[in-house]
Amino acid sequence: MASRKKVFLIKNGRAVSFVYLPENSSERFRQAAAELVRICWKATGVKIPIRHQVKPTEKLTRIEFSVRPARRKKMKLPPDDTFWIFCQKDKLEISVTREETLPLALARFLEETVQARWFFPGKLGQDIPERKETFVLPGKKRFYPSFTWRSLSWKDASVFRDWQEKNGLFPFPVNRGHAYTEILPRKLFGTHPEFFSLICGKRRVNPSQMCYQAPGIVELSCRYIEQVLEKNPELVAVSLCPNDVDYFCECAGCQKGEKPTRYYDYFVHQPPYGYGGPGSAAHLSERVFRFTNKVAEKMKEKYPDKYLLVYAYGCYNHPPEGMKISDNVIIWLTSTCLGWWNKKRRKLDIERLKAWRKVARNIVIFEALSNQAWPELPRIAPALVADSLKTYHRYGIQGFYSQMFGDFGTNLPNYYLATRFLWNARASYRKEWSVFLKRCFGPAASQVGKYWKILSAAWKKLIADGTLEGARSIINPHYEYLQLVRLYPEETIEKVRTCLQKAREISGQGIYRQRVEMLEKGWRYTELTLKAVKECLALEDLNFPPFYFAPWLAPDYDFRFYKILVRGMDKRVVIHALKRAISAWEEREKFVRSCKGKHILSQTLLERNRRFDPRPVLKKMLQIAQEWKNLSAKAGNINQKGGEV
Ligand SMILES: [Zn+2]
Repeated sequence: MASRKKVFLIKNGRAVSFVYLPENSSERFRQAAAELVRICWKATGVKIPIRHQVKPTEKLTRIEFSVRPARRKKMKLPPDDTFWIFCQKDKLEISVTREETLPLALARFLEETVQARWFFPGKLGQDIPERKETFVLPGKKRFYPSFTWRSLSWKDASVFRDWQEKNGLFPFPVNRGHAYTEILPRKLFGTHPEFFSLICGKRRVNPSQMCYQAPGIVELSCRYIEQVLEKNPELVAVSLCPNDVDYFCECAGCQKGEKPTRYYDYFVHQPPYGYGGPGSAAHLSERVFRFTNKVAEKMKEKYPDKYLLVYAYGCYNHPPEGMKISDNVIIWLTSTCLGWWNKKRRKLDIERLKAWRKVARNIVIFEALSNQAWPELPRIAPALVADSLKTYHRYGIQGFYSQMFGDFGTNLPNYYLATRFLWNARASYRKEWSVFLKRCFGPAASQVGKYWKILSAAWKKLIADGTLEGARSIINPHYEYLQLVRLYPEETIEKVRTCLQKAREISGQGIYRQRVEMLEKGWRYTELTLKAVKECLALEDLNFPPFYFAPWLAPDYDFRFYKILVRGMDKRVVIHALKRAISAWEEREKFVRSCKGKHILSQTLLERNRRFDPRPVLKKMLQIAQEWKNLSAKAGNINQKGGEV
């Protein structure tokens, strides 16, 4: 190795190379060239020139990009993100199999040559150490990811696009998730009610899955798929995922031969945390995947290179018995690695994974490193992220998707570690973790490490014993907010504060300080949320009904019950408690707004419609209580006057 002669790009404060960019190069090539120059300039202060022509006499190393389409591998899902770096005496070539891989290939190249890293989006997340020279060792090196599909995202993630691309993430090449409502639009109900689920003796349009026995339903689904592919020929897969409701058809044909109690034990004895609950005993897999296979068979001939994508989720998250899944189907298996501190849960998840592998060739994971149930609140478990990705890779899983809302101020370690292990599942956790801490936080690395260790231990403690009450389903946000109080008790909060304080003190004045401040803001948000939650719990202590109960959030909540409840209470006490609660939520809201656009908290959170916000209800309650107080004060005055007479 050492004997190989270094090929320099920058040497003795001077560029000894140039980027060759032919005139007719595409936008992606131009961007890659500009980015290479920019990063090397940041590292060394030297600009590598970009040239559209090659001068034959010049003794400079030529850097160029090329695309060499991959040969289709039979057992692997497309796309292929393999790339090569060829380096010889006077030429360096970065060769990708598709243009979309270029930003990733360039980022990996820069990681190797100038140790560049992109921990989180934006300038602050970028780390390019200063250096004097840049060189590459001659030879040919092949790079390829452990997972073919790698995605951390949620709806429009354009603000993170650059960070995602550099870390090798891209959106799943599929049109959507839940899809039956698209196949069966409401307007079809008038002419074809038989396509919709029979529920309690009636065909229903909403909520509904579909009646798999209805004549023509397979053809209708095929037509839908054809339309999607005609409009979006670039897609690799089309979703045939059922809707996000239970409501499967109850007609005799659909129910024929089913064993409704199968897997019931699994759910009853399953340690909490994760998808599925006692109501979703998994016995519907046969019907969902029998139907999927029928559609898949029909699609095979016309679209030999395309796939159908179907969740394994809720009441169909176990593999069907007695059938194999067609090879042109991808199973999108829901899993929750953040629950894996519970050994039983981990074992059950892996058993299910292995069972799926026996019946399906193509499996990708649907993970919830963050989701709307724990909106952007820290659940730190980088060790589980690494463990699960290594496990998935070992069992031949081809892709991974997790919801990600851009809450880097709170959940940064989970996300960043995920990107590392999605690219290389064989990497060492210890090494990745320590490099990340040192590079991202410099002198504050040990204190930040300690901070995350405290949060990690808290999360572990909460789930390891399997008593995460009320959180069997992670989709209900209200219980999760309650669990937050259990997750971070006072003594933990104290420890965290001390840690962050020390981290700030030793972080210096530059970029490390700013990164620590980002974490401080993430924690500030967590504390403000905790405070607001506790104020609502204080209302419960006054005998208010459980606050984190869905109907309280509905705008049309019936306040009659509340009126009866407060009738006998001391209005001053009620008003005081409500004011405190409102002001706590206001304070949190104000803070959330101040973080907008800074990649600290979730963008989704900042859009009001997807979050828990009890302020309207609290304000209405306050208004009612104040009216009552005024009324009784008036009544008191009248009585008093009457007494005088
Ligand atoms: Zn039916």
